[in-house]
Amino acid sequence: MSTMEPSPVDGLKRRLETSGPMSVGDYMAWCLTGSGTSYYRSGNPLGATGDFVTAPEVSQIFGELIAVWACSVWQAMGEPSPFVLAELGPGRGTLMQDALRAARSMPGFLEAAQIHLIETSATLRERQDQLLSQFCRPQWHETVKAVPAEPLIVIANEFFDALPVEQHIYDNGSWRRRVVSLTEAGKLGFSTGRLALPPVELIPAEAPREGDILEHRPGATALIQEFGRRAQSAPFAMLIFDYGYERRDYGDTLQAVRAHGYADPLEAPGEADLSAHVNFAELSQAANTARLDVWGPLPQSEFLLSLGLEHRLRQLMNSADEEQRAALFLGARRLVDPFQMGSLFKVMAMTSPGMPAPAPFGKQVAVYG
Ligand code: SAH
Repeated sequence: MSTMEPSPVDGLKRRLETSGPMSVGDYMAWCLTGSGTSYYRSGNPLGATGDFVTAPEVSQIFGELIAVWACSVWQAMGEPSPFVLAELGPGRGTLMQDALRAARSMPGFLEAAQIHLIETSATLRERQDQLLSQFCRPQWHETVKAVPAEPLIVIANEFFDALPVEQHIYDNGSWRRRVVSLTEAGKLGFSTGRLALPPVELIPAEAPREGDILEHRPGATALIQEFGRRAQSAPFAMLIFDYGYERRDYGDTLQAVRAHGYADPLEAPGEADLSAHVNFAELSQAANTARLDVWGPLPQSEFLLSLGLEHRLRQLMNSADEEQRAALFLGARRLVDPFQMGSLFKVMAMTSPGMPAPAPFGKQVAVYG
């Protein structure tokens, strides 16, 4: 960026000066997708040279096992043709590429699949196109609403954590909205806004203490409602991977990551990745309200091991040289090691009412190969 151009933070400060404080959710939305200079609309945040590395970038086995899952769900739906295979926030397209390559062994699946990608970033759309053009002609959308009403299988890896959270703070015995405003010194700061009750069903059983923060994600609830509506008239299944917590809880989980390190969320708006932990209890409640069946969450390690991660790793290692074998092993271990991604990351599935339990959430376990 040349020194003549205003930096993203100047635009934000002008907005705060003219319109007053903004909610944490509006701040997150502005930073991530809200303007031409926002994080996901400009640049290329993902991968070894970007700000963070995700599971599909760590090991091809991740996308391959998701294909196993999607194929078994498609069979459980009665092998509808056509059907929509959609991914929310596909990043570089690596997951979908690995999944489509693996799905070639399932007769009829690829012929029936229409690939729809929900992606706001033009740069990432281009990357996805490059990687996927040998397999399919995907259609891109800004939102799920534009996806055709057909049988639908949805994959979302590290998508929900990028949806804005609203924060409420318990202040002098009442809940108030937490906001971002300008300090007297003209810097960005958090402050306490108007009285506003968070969704009561998300408030933990233990009474809040002064200063406690409660987060919720209206965008996730709205998305799940949309899927719930569709699931009443066509088969639906969604698989969600994310890091987060399973029980209602207090806490400020808003975080900024820049060049593989944590940063202050207010330090470089639009230039750092902002995210917040996913509250799986909230997703589960939204799914119940939307009349969807919910499965899990399971730790990511349990999900991947049940679907045959070790078997697939052995297969790949058998046809690899020594250097590749080491990389394959390290990648697979990173996905399932409890001290790396294995237990912080969780997997939840949602299905249209009455569908059989998708593997490995029920008893039935698919084997890769
Ligand atoms: N699933 C990928 C990338 C995760 S990063 C992976 O595992 O590597 C989040 C992705 O969601 C990016 O592709 C980003 O551009 C996209 N994204 C973020 N917010 C979005 C929104 N509100 N609507 C659509 N896509 C969004």
